[in-house]
Amino acid sequence: MSTQNPVFIPGPTNIPDRLRYAMSIQTTDHRAPDFVELLTPVLDDVKKVFKTTTGQIITFPSSGTGGWEAAITNTLSPGDKVLVARYGMFSHRWIDMCQRHYLDVEIVDCEWGTGAPADIFAERLSADKNHEIKAVLVTHNETATGVKSDIAAVRSAMDVSDHPAMLYVDCVSSLGSMDFRMDEWGVDLAVSGSQKGFMLATGMAIVGVSEKAMKATETAKCPRCFFDFRDMAGANAKGGFPYTPPLQLIYGLRESLKMIEEEGLENVFARHYRLAEGVRQAVRAWGLQLCAKTPDLYSDSVSAIYVPQGFDSDVLTNHAFDTYGVSFGVGLGEMAGKAFRIGHLGSLTDVMALSGLTAIEMSMADLNYPVKLGSGTIAAQEYYRKTAAVPQQQAA
Ligand SMILES: *Cc1c(COP(=O)(O)O)cnc(C)c1O
Repeated sequence: MSTQNPVFIPGPTNIPDRLRYAMSIQTTDHRAPDFVELLTPVLDDVKKVFKTTTGQIITFPSSGTGGWEAAITNTLSPGDKVLVARYGMFSHRWIDMCQRHYLDVEIVDCEWGTGAPADIFAERLSADKNHEIKAVLVTHNETATGVKSDIAAVRSAMDVSDHPAMLYVDCVSSLGSMDFRMDEWGVDLAVSGSQKGFMLATGMAIVGVSEKAMKATETAKCPRCFFDFRDMAGANAKGGFPYTPPLQLIYGLRESLKMIEEEGLENVFARHYRLAEGVRQAVRAWGLQLCAKTPDLYSDSVSAIYVPQGFDSDVLTNHAFDTYGVSFGVGLGEMAGKAFRIGHLGSLTDVMALSGLTAIEMSMADLNYPVKLGSGTIAAQEYYRKTAAVPQQQAA
């Protein structure tokens, strides 16, 4: 089977050759004096992607989940109340993690396919006169359903209630793919990882920490050791690491930031929108439904698509893999068997996106879906032609 086909899972994402080479470096001594010259500018540059000047960046050798554990344990104490909405598998996982850390979790259950309910948050926060709620937790891009939540609206809900809770945002599958504004949205903890928008190998949790969140580490009582912000920030300030750093990933991140800078962050977002919109045009042409209920909720990094009644989405994704060697995201949690996902984030072009659309279309045709072979691909082709950045050659 070819290993050249792109993956259409929503992470880890395709690693561009340039980043594979950047990560292919020999061991150097992280205690040597020149390590600071590598690490410090990288941590500074990551701030631009988070859109923060007042926050600080803390990384750990870990996947994104470790970033969440770090965010929670460094800033909260057992028994602290947190407000969180569940509208997909990832928001569910954070609830589970909070409970395992003995937090008092106030859950707002929402229909999957919707996003963070700013209006309900406003009600709950206004009712919380004694300010027992210490944190509001939001998954910016719910990767299970392809739903993007309005973080600015959540911030407004907190502001109108004049509530001092901190705002924690999971931006693992949005950062570097969709607009994220840590400072403007007043985000206290923004959790991401290396293997999605940054197009790198898995293994680095990347967390944006506000001044307020950093202050909270002084009183937070959740046990932590490996993930202690204070150890990491203290060592980083001297240009070091409290333990062995993921050196290859730091080199990779440096190059990834260069690539994002060269393309321009806003252009990166525009490219993701265009790729996503082509996929959405294909879904429409197939006559299928997105899990995301309304256009304002559409994610530009992943589309979750319901299969027609009577079909099993796991059979479809397995078929695409077995027959054409192409991976798509499976339905997670409530979506298992009912929906498949097309990841379209990271290093992707329109031509790559089209290859995924044709592969899933062939798979649907093989399995006798009521979908016209070519219909989605044509819709996406038309959209990509119309919106191509490079002027088309005039036919002679
Ligand atoms: C990928 C992802 C994570 C992190 O998962 P890891 O496998 O631990 O890196 C967290 N939240 C969301 C929304 C994600 O898409």
